[in-house]
Amino acid sequence: MTTPVRVAVTGAAGQIGYALLFRIASGAMFGPDQPVALNLVEITPALDALKGVAMELEDCAFPLLTDIVQTDDPATGFTDVDVACLVGAKPRGPGMERADLLTGNGGIFKPQGEAIAAHAADDVRVVVVGNPANTNALIASANAAGLSPEQFTAMVRLDENRAKSQLASKAGVAVSEVRNLGVWGNHSPTMFPNFEDATIGGRPATDVLDRAWLEGEFLATVQQRGKAIIEARGASSAASAANALVDHVRNWVGGDATPDGEYVSMAVPSDGSYGVPEGLVFGFPCRTDGEGGYEIVQGIEVSDYAQGKLDTTIAELSEERDAVADLV
Ligand code: NDP
Repeated sequence: MTTPVRVAVTGAAGQIGYALLFRIASGAMFGPDQPVALNLVEITPALDALKGVAMELEDCAFPLLTDIVQTDDPATGFTDVDVACLVGAKPRGPGMERADLLTGNGGIFKPQGEAIAAHAADDVRVVVVGNPANTNALIASANAAGLSPEQFTAMVRLDENRAKSQLASKAGVAVSEVRNLGVWGNHSPTMFPNFEDATIGGRPATDVLDRAWLEGEFLATVQQRGKAIIEARGASSAASAANALVDHVRNWVGGDATPDGEYVSMAVPSDGSYGVPEGLVFGFPCRTDGEGGYEIVQGIEVSDYAQGKLDTTIAELSEERDAVADLV
């Protein structure tokens, strides 16, 4: 039998965890022939709830699911892990400043980075969802001695999926007709879904759709989508976030390389491409090989308009990095 892929999910008893685990166990992340083992990591008060989630996983009798570990100990949770999905994070409380959130999460992601370095597989791949995701990924990576920064990413794929769906709907085409919509920068309202490089039915999106709509309603809708869902649903997006995480990992390491001429959005450590300060975990258009490798797509034209958007999100991420300077 094929060796199972061992996947850790932190915050496994949370909303995103509940929408994610069953997709992984059913084969959506690594394909229908790849067995998986799940390491479910939670904080101590959530262990009872986690037990219920594990019972439901058992009750699905997934043929691909070979093992379930439940733990509140990062060392146990990351042992022999091939892929780590860091979903659990400290929610922003009333009156909490961004700096408080950043340092509060530092207390979670620093020890997790250390535990991943000490206990996970040498070629582990990590994706951070818990917010502020980009900077949390930077903290985990900076504290993972012996691992390469390229093994740590953050998720901006939900923003890409949201943007593609908006473009398809406006153009009246299937979402599969929309290609190369890169989300640049931070997973926050400053991120820039770069419609200037996107195509719809093989034509530039800027030829198909009105530029004023793209710069106005489109950007605002994508950037505020999370808030709109909270208002409509009374709870934050969970299934779509879990789905984007499945997409991110499937393309990166689950055997589903990006097709020729196409790219997906991943927040990865900057190598200085496009003038983004080296080391910032930054949303870039990336090509993946499906086996844990990726490259930042080069040669995309950046207009003055796009550069202005990049400058804003670079400034925000640089401020975040400064706020956690003692952790990175
Ligand atoms: P969710 O599962 O809804 O969200 C988890 C994290 O994902 C939050 O930081 C959230 O950020 C973030 N996120 C990123 N993108 C999105 C998106 N598009 N939509 C929604 N969320 C997004 O939170 P719950 O409170 O339901 O669950 C969190 C779980 O994590 C709890 O069970 C808690 O016990 C656990 N936890 C575990 C830790 C650990 O394992 N060490 C540490 C801390 C918590 P945002 O808040 O900005 O929406």
